[in-house]
Amino acid sequence: MKAELSTKTQHLDHFIAGRYVSGSQGKTFDSINPATGKVLATVALGTADDIDKAAQAAHEAFETGPWPRMSIKERADILHKVAALIMENKERLALAETMDNGKPISESRDGDIPRAAKNFQFFAGYAQSLAEDSYSTTDSERHIAMREPLGVAGLITPWNLPLYLATWKIAPCLVMGNTCVLKPAEWTPFTAFLLAELMQEAGVPEGVFNVVQGFGADGAGEALTRHPLVRSISFTGETSTGKAIMAAASGTLKKVSFELGGKGSNIIFDDADLKEALPTAIRAAFRNQGEICLAGSRLFVQRKIYSQVVEEMVARARQIKVGDPLDENTQMGALISKEHMEKVQSYIEIGKNEGKLLTGGERPKDLMHGNFLQPSIFTDLPFDSKFCQEEIFGPALPIIPFDTEEEVIRMANSTPYGLSASIWSQDVDRCHRLSKKLRTGLVWVNCWFARDLRTPFGGQKQSGVGREGGRYSLDFFTDYKTVTYKYK
Ligand code: NAD
Repeated sequence: MKAELSTKTQHLDHFIAGRYVSGSQGKTFDSINPATGKVLATVALGTADDIDKAAQAAHEAFETGPWPRMSIKERADILHKVAALIMENKERLALAETMDNGKPISESRDGDIPRAAKNFQFFAGYAQSLAEDSYSTTDSERHIAMREPLGVAGLITPWNLPLYLATWKIAPCLVMGNTCVLKPAEWTPFTAFLLAELMQEAGVPEGVFNVVQGFGADGAGEALTRHPLVRSISFTGETSTGKAIMAAASGTLKKVSFELGGKGSNIIFDDADLKEALPTAIRAAFRNQGEICLAGSRLFVQRKIYSQVVEEMVARARQIKVGDPLDENTQMGALISKEHMEKVQSYIEIGKNEGKLLTGGERPKDLMHGNFLQPSIFTDLPFDSKFCQEEIFGPALPIIPFDTEEEVIRMANSTPYGLSASIWSQDVDRCHRLSKKLRTGLVWVNCWFARDLRTPFGGQKQSGVGREGGRYSLDFFTDYKTVTYKYK
């Protein structure tokens, strides 16, 4: 079936062994457009049987197919074609992402989709520069650490950056010669469905890339984590899901890599360049409707500039244009689902009761048909309150004052999460001191969201297990073998 995008309800099948197929039980579920509340697509409901078929196809492709036997260069050439096809289909993919997820079309078209293409380009290029370690114990003995693919990988992805994060796993997985089964989030099945067609067009052999749509716990996701032919699970999603997957995957002792939740701190000292820091703090809190694991979701501000920053942040938040995600001028679209919006609203109620709401806190009156929320800013919330400790994953920001470095470090490090933090100050020594004390996998100094794809990406504490990016991703998708040569 040729994937198309129109205003009519679509039907999205699985993609197994190089073909679009309906689910084994023929059941479907609806994917809802978050901005309209209308059904965007009916989606094949994946079962353990579907996962089994996909895992068998991936296993077959791994054991007997050409993919693992090609050189890295041959695989990379095909993945470069995938990247080119993503860019050729950018408009169609961006439209699908926005209608499925609710994010502004400008984010999809200029952010998520080009980044998906870049993920393929990057890993296709980077993998070709990998060296193998070799050690000489004596003149007559040499040990070589050889890389081999692991086999079938299970890739499980979230809804907030659907194609962006799926390709961040698919590209390193495939370039190393593995085969895979992707289980996209049930809320955003669309771009994974479209990608399958592009993979095939680029020449990825059948069985190498499979997609099974469906749910997580008790569904396709869980079946993937338990399947005996699946050797590794690369997962991005909530911390609680990571714990469930770790338990399920232990039965077959799979290798796991987890990118989990966050409660990022954004720390502004009184010597910071506020012209840079404040617009960035607004983006860090409200970009993608606040549905970003790396969001600066707690803003700590040094006492001397606290009132000024609060006032300016409120003024800036009020200027954010919330609206139809398909409108080019929209800056904040709809939240992923009614359930998620209600969860964010429940935190907003806590914020109103325990602290002070300065702006937002409501659904925009003219947008009641979709899951829209105004950007909200709160003060007077204790740093150890539920609001400031738990991941809200929505447009609700607390601003918290501090006096000293020690105090802000203690508050920033107080959550179970440890994904990311930003520090804003002109004092390089202070930034260095703080970056060493923050218990996070990423620290940005006078910036936010800046990435070099070669660096390790991931969280400390309960924000993750392992790292993605550059050789860290390639190592995850590698089985090492030491071959020792003894010669005269
Ligand atoms: P989620 O954990 O609910 O779901 C993620 C995926 O896991 C979905 O495909 C879902 O179907 C599947 N799943 C759920 N339960 C499962 C189970 N028991 N077994 C197997 N699969 C299961 O997460 P979400 O709500 O889609 O995404 C938001 C979360 O993702 C936030 O916590 C956010 O911080 C996190 N996230 C982290 C990063 C990162 O890089 N650290 C990036 C993006 C999102």
